[in-house]
Amino acid sequence: MKKAKQNAGLAASELGTRLRYFEDRREQIIQTIRQLVEVESPSDDKEAVNRLGSLLAGRFEGLGGHAKFHHAQNFGNHLQVDFSGKSGGKPIMLLGHLDTVYPLGTLATMPFRMADGRLWGPGSFDMKSGIAFMLSAIEALRHWHGDELPRPVTVLLVSDEEVGSDTSRRITENLARKSAAVLVLEPAYGSKGAVKTARKGVGEYILKVNGKAAHSGLDFEKGESAIIELSREILEISKLTDLKRGITLNVGTVQGGTRSNVIPAEATAVLDARVARMKDAKELDRKLRSLKPFNRKCRLEISGGVNRPPLERTPGVAALYKKAADITKQFGWKLEEAAVGGGSDGNFTAALGIPTLDGLGGVGEGAHATHESVLISELPRRAALLSALIESV
Ligand SMILES: [Zn+2]
Repeated sequence: MKKAKQNAGLAASELGTRLRYFEDRREQIIQTIRQLVEVESPSDDKEAVNRLGSLLAGRFEGLGGHAKFHHAQNFGNHLQVDFSGKSGGKPIMLLGHLDTVYPLGTLATMPFRMADGRLWGPGSFDMKSGIAFMLSAIEALRHWHGDELPRPVTVLLVSDEEVGSDTSRRITENLARKSAAVLVLEPAYGSKGAVKTARKGVGEYILKVNGKAAHSGLDFEKGESAIIELSREILEISKLTDLKRGITLNVGTVQGGTRSNVIPAEATAVLDARVARMKDAKELDRKLRSLKPFNRKCRLEISGGVNRPPLERTPGVAALYKKAADITKQFGWKLEEAAVGGGSDGNFTAALGIPTLDGLGGVGEGAHATHESVLISELPRRAALLSALIESV
């Protein structure tokens, strides 16, 4: 207990007061989530994402932050907000994304609503509730520390996370390098709200087979079927899956041929590859690139690679989790951790060796689906946890 107190930097009674502070502001958190959900922000709609970015820049500046946008070609601009702090030193980075997977107009069929103890709507869980916690936690810290934050904080909200983070990755990595730790406000895992201390790395590969076309009746033996070759390669690729080591390969789409009476000259497969450890990514990449054709008259072309490195449970990640678990213990609940298959921008920051804790956002379900929702009862304590982490990391 004594150790836990030191880690949190606050006495247990003080933590209790702080949790009540957020309980008293539950309605404000709900209204913020509503406001954010009702400004739709699909990744592929620059204007729409910019509307949400502007709204948030205003809200963070109202809390004393300095907002600036990183221009992105074809995507909404990425929002960075810097807060100075009493203590100086390296900032804590709060990481998230503005974009959602839902096309403009989704609100018509999936409006924001409150029912069954939940908030429903596109992006409510992934991850507009997480953004609301950032606002709420920063406001609270200023309230407790005389209109100033106890330490510097950098908020980064990117516009392209749901489509691979190509235009934001460098910005995320640059800011993470300057930070003491990265707290990712992506959705929590499962109904108990576990944080994510491991995420798989994700890659995409395209395998193209070139064979030789021929009339299937007149010149059967002159053809070299790309589809037969691809089928055999797919069986080879599936052998690379190793569930125990957290390596999976999924051939998600196949395409090939032109007509039933033509021996197919071309066939293509697109595959999703996931690894739990970076060293497995290199090995897997090497194996995929050294696939050989069974039919020597066919040619293979493989392109792609791992674009999100795994978030591995390094000692830095484990220490950050322990700190969070010590805090919630004093709040009176147990914070669990989980390893998940999906990637986030936390994968980039963790791969740089910066302690990263992911899944600090809302507790709920249905990310990317019509039943997307967050539990109202969990809102105050998630905001309380975030504020205590900013103070004590
Ligand atoms: Zn997300």
